[in-house]
Amino acid sequence: MPLRKSTEQIAMMRRAGRVVAEMLEVAAAAARPGASSADLDSAARGVLDRRGARSSFLGYHGFPAVVCVSPNEVVIHGIPGQRVLEEGDIVSIDGGAIVEGWHADAAVTVGVGEVDQASGRLIEATRDALAAATRRAVPDSRLGDLGEACEAVVEAAGLAVVRDYTGHGIGTAMHEEPQVPNFGRAGRGARLRAGMVLAIEPMVVAGGATVMELADGWTVVTRDRSRSAHFEHTVAITESGPEVLTAP
Ligand code: MG
Repeated sequence: MPLRKSTEQIAMMRRAGRVVAEMLEVAAAAARPGASSADLDSAARGVLDRRGARSSFLGYHGFPAVVCVSPNEVVIHGIPGQRVLEEGDIVSIDGGAIVEGWHADAAVTVGVGEVDQASGRLIEATRDALAAATRRAVPDSRLGDLGEACEAVVEAAGLAVVRDYTGHGIGTAMHEEPQVPNFGRAGRGARLRAGMVLAIEPMVVAGGATVMELADGWTVVTRDRSRSAHFEHTVAITESGPEVLTAP
């Protein structure tokens, strides 16, 4: 049974969510042509330090950074390093923070300088898919309602959802029950209740949806090396509707 959080606990997660939003904002601003992916990590670390928060990612199964930085063909879990961002690239930035033991987790994809139309549409459709799923994050809806809403937006844009990775419950651990698939059928799956908090995170590809993990044990790329976008928010299900805890 997925854990339900109290109003006080959700308030704590909201504090973590604000830190995450700021981390992503600062890291996205650093995503300029000529910057390395490690530069984005440094920018995000500065926010954690200033806010006195801990990283959800650093040390997670040995992950060496506070954000995942995933350019172009990298879907998720890119390790910040020496890769230099170029004009026209797109880059996904995923980060998490812990405040008083409570986690929040979010991701954005941004263009580096000017991007081509297809990349712009990919980014926009992925953001819209997250918004569509989030609107279904209300008491008594089912996980399949979120998945179907997400996939409908993606398919209408002529794109595809990555099925190998899902969103997740979140709380005192970054990954809690339930898994939150980005596809599904309305009316199916676990029923949502007020107090549940979900990290909803569509990963969308412009080409084939087959993905593979590189030899570093982290980096997930599209097999055909087509581009991918990723958006994520930590969303609390409340009686008055979905509350995005990681809103900028
Ligand atoms: Mg996540």
